[in-house]
Amino acid sequence: MRTKIVAGNWKMNKNFQEAKALTSELLGMINDEVQGNVKVVLCVPFPYLDAVQNMLGTHKRIAVGAQNCSEHVSGAYTGEVAAPMLKSMDIPYVIIGHSERRQYFNEGGALLAKKVDMAIANSLTPIYCCGEPLEVRERNEHEALVRKQVEESLFHLSAEALQKVVIAYEPVWAIGTGKTASAQQAQDMHAVIRQHLAGKYGKAIADTITILYGGSVNAGNANELFSCPDVDGGLVGGASLKSREFTDIIKAMK
Ligand code: PEP
Repeated sequence: MRTKIVAGNWKMNKNFQEAKALTSELLGMINDEVQGNVKVVLCVPFPYLDAVQNMLGTHKRIAVGAQNCSEHVSGAYTGEVAAPMLKSMDIPYVIIGHSERRQYFNEGGALLAKKVDMAIANSLTPIYCCGEPLEVRERNEHEALVRKQVEESLFHLSAEALQKVVIAYEPVWAIGTGKTASAQQAQDMHAVIRQHLAGKYGKAIADTITILYGGSVNAGNANELFSCPDVDGGLVGGASLKSREFTDIIKAMK
């Protein structure tokens, strides 16, 4: 039985007061009845991690996550945040390789492999993002690209380490555009990823890996997306900033 996760990616949104207000609304709405066995992760901006984590307290199923970490352990890297720093705050999750990091900060496969290693070495669960831009899908090369992204940044891991990773398939053309992949497109790619993992690590291991879908998930489409056999939850951007809608998305995962 794979772990089901609904993660919210707040990106660079909300001031501190708004972030605390959203957390408190979510705490009021998300309870055992709503979330069942689903884990909820709030990937908030770095400066809010401590406050949001404190507000969540010992909540059994809602945790915080960071949106990035450095590939370096420490040192003269002004503006960066190291995985050991996140570890020292007991942050359990970190997003690695979001398409915005790939696009605006030139993050590529080899660098992301180092970040994945850094996360795992510091007891953080990496949520490793992969996904194709529109022109790649139009050329029908999307499966090959996503296989390559998975290979480049994850295939150096031992089977034991791989099992500490969560993968998020996020087609770039669906992120923040309101254009969602159909449930069939999502399922097809999730199956491709799982088969690729099975080819390297064996089916039994591949079957344990949580694979999230991301790209304009909302309360209206979550049910259909989450009912696909290989979709184990979602990475949600825009809709995670609205407490009611995010709660409805979590309900759809049950
Ligand atoms: C994301 O940021 O990972 C994302 C999927 O955004 P949105 O849900 O807004 O498309």
